[in-house]
Amino acid sequence: LSARLQALHALPAITRDAVRIPLHVNIGLVDELPFAQASGGEGIGLFRTEFPFLIRESLPVEEEQYPLYRRVLEAFAPKPVTMRTLDVGGDKILSYLPVEEENPSLGCRGIRFTLDHPEIFLMQLRALLRANAGLNNLQLLFPMISKVGEVDEALGLLARAHRELLEEGVATAKARVGVMIEVPSAVYLAEALARRVDFLSIGTNDLTQYLLAVDRNNAEVATPYDSLHPAVINAVRQVIEGAHRQRTPVSVCGEMAGDPASALLLLGMDADSLSMNPTSLARIKWVIRSFTQRRARNCSMKR
Ligand code: PEP
Ligand code: MG
Repeated sequence: LSARLQALHALPAITRDAVRIPLHVNIGLVDELPFAQASGGEGIGLFRTEFPFLIRESLPVEEEQYPLYRRVLEAFAPKPVTMRTLDVGGDKILSYLPVEEENPSLGCRGIRFTLDHPEIFLMQLRALLRANAGLNNLQLLFPMISKVGEVDEALGLLARAHRELLEEGVATAKARVGVMIEVPSAVYLAEALARRVDFLSIGTNDLTQYLLAVDRNNAEVATPYDSLHPAVINAVRQVIEGAHRQRTPVSVCGEMAGDPASALLLLGMDADSLSMNPTSLARIKWVIRSFTQRRARNCSMKR
């Protein structure tokens, strides 16, 4: 079987009724690049930028961040690379900027943290926009969005970073922008969010945790933590439908996208692309190529 999976490497992810569904990879470290490239993914659907921040003892400044982002963008150009802005807080704490909270997963995390620290956010946005100069394959993704105002504020800071680089005569290039849908409130705002950005990306790991009130990291509640719970599936369907009314594409980048049965369900619900761990890619491609979207739609309707 593994030889057959290998042979799939150069083939596109296309269903038997000719629906193309780009498969992307999730990574977080530059060291994972060769593995990501070898996986046959058509781009990076989620680069978790927090890892380089977490493994250091002090905040990496713009000049330290820039070469890292540049290497990743160069390695994949012209294929798209989705860089998610700093998603710390929750279980990901920076040793040099500790936040003491009683309930960290409902605390100052993701976009809340970066909007609270605009100097950190601007520094990262500048490094990212600079890395995109001359390549133009960068897509930015904002994590843990729970209201429209956060997107407007983040877009304002992004515009400021771009404007300041231009004024300084530093090479820069604008990027496409997307938001993560991983907080229940964002499900109900999907259409309004889709109107403001270029794409949505559903983070089913956190969406499952917050919709079902089940800790994603607690082995004691591994059974109720169920991404195939009807409420999670309905939420995903609602997000895709809302975004499509605005002609905004939707990617799914949670673990669900890398599970064969779930990937078929997502195909049946019209997800536009899937992003997963590189080790899952060949298997998911095989499943997509073995099925028709029509059949996947029928199966997803029965749920
Ligand atoms: C998610 O929440 O589904 C996601 C992709 O982001 P992370 O796992 O990094 O929280
Ligand atoms: Mg998340």
